[in-house]
Amino acid sequence: MAAQKAKKPTESPGQERPVREILRQCKPPKIHLVRFLYCGNDGVIRGKACHTRFLDSYLRSGIGLTVAMASFNMLDQLVPEGSFGPVGEIRLMPDPETFTVLPYVPKTARLLCDMLTLEGEPWGACTRTFLKRMIARARSAGLALRAAFENEFTLATRDRAPLDRSPCFSSIGMDSAAPVMLELVEALMAQGVYPEQYYAELGPGQQELPVRFADALRAADNQITLRETARGVAWKHGLLASFAPKPFPDQAGNGSHIHFSLWRLKDGKNHFHDARGRYGLSEAGYAFIGGVLAHLPALVALTAPTVNSYRRLQPRFWSSAYTAWGPDNREAAIRIPSKRRGLEMESTNLELKPCDPSNNPYLALGGLLAAGLDGLERELEPGEPALADPDTLSEAERRRRGIRRLPATLGEALDALERDEVLREALGPVLAKEYLAVKRSEVRGFQGRDVAFEIEQHFYKY
Ligand code: GLU
Ligand code: MG
Repeated sequence: MAAQKAKKPTESPGQERPVREILRQCKPPKIHLVRFLYCGNDGVIRGKACHTRFLDSYLRSGIGLTVAMASFNMLDQLVPEGSFGPVGEIRLMPDPETFTVLPYVPKTARLLCDMLTLEGEPWGACTRTFLKRMIARARSAGLALRAAFENEFTLATRDRAPLDRSPCFSSIGMDSAAPVMLELVEALMAQGVYPEQYYAELGPGQQELPVRFADALRAADNQITLRETARGVAWKHGLLASFAPKPFPDQAGNGSHIHFSLWRLKDGKNHFHDARGRYGLSEAGYAFIGGVLAHLPALVALTAPTVNSYRRLQPRFWSSAYTAWGPDNREAAIRIPSKRRGLEMESTNLELKPCDPSNNPYLALGGLLAAGLDGLERELEPGEPALADPDTLSEAERRRRGIRRLPATLGEALDALERDEVLREALGPVLAKEYLAVKRSEVRGFQGRDVAFEIEQHFYKY
């Protein structure tokens, strides 16, 4: 009972046991360092580590971080017009549920963090808190999002030459990448992330490793785990794992398509599923698509958020380039994947393609939820399905169907985000302002620079 009384107000009642369990698993000499990680507005995963001897206190009070990190861009610059500078602190407060021992570095564990003010309140610039807010918004409508990021990434030598040039889906590629991929699969399983399929993809050295879906917060956390683990395991093998959207300018890009579905809390059923609906999708599913398409030019500023992202979002690369949707259409921004026989309800989901692994997954999923929920509230219609590559339609036909070209540059996407009141309101004033400032500075940072500089800067930060 005494321990109960000593609890800090920020701790929920269920957290005391995970904290004790973490401390038990971290006893030195087994573990020395515990990383407190977060994902920045720039999509780069950063953090600080504490020694296990002091872990107990840091688990309770968080590790201090300068507020300036919310104004950092992917060129590792503090953005001059950002709101945050040298004065001010926040706390990286770990979520005990995210504790894992890292299988790819010695004697190290990690936790994923929220950002709290010194008073213990959620900080306005915290992206993980933004996703939690959107999850709560869905919950108040009786719904929960489940999602999985379907990652493609490139294995390369340390001087950025692709691991191989194996044919698409070939077992030749599976063989050349096997030592790394098998270790990656094991390392993910050890951290509670479950790879569901694997194949060698089309691009040079390109791999694809879709993982099992999870509740939205967990899915975003899993994306951090996957990026971290792929990078760490590849490094052990003398290789780089690059999640840059377009690591080689003229070859296939790296997507991280989001597969998602909404589930009803009251009966635990998939709200997108309707056996009698067109392509097996419910009216709610169509309204959600309507919302996502309505906001898509702005949403891509969150899901495909780097300068390099727009080299990927080109027609004819299966990454999508237009605000179109269609059944099993891999050039549509939203694909309705065909159901699996016998698993119709469970397997009903939507796939968002203009999304890549240089994003901050909390912003990407939170933005997707905000856009889709807006579609549900306003009962938006998605228009006609695209049954062919929208790039093959005439300009006039696309206009007739309301199919728009997605932004062709990060700058255009940011303009759309700035104009999009629904997404800006969802982000909240602090995060919206900071995100736009950070990303605008990235646009400026690449102005007048060549492709080689762009690739070099993106290749190994993601
Ligand atoms: N590599 C493609 C992209 O950039 C996706 C290919 C596919 O799996 O459909 O999104
Ligand atoms: Mg693929």
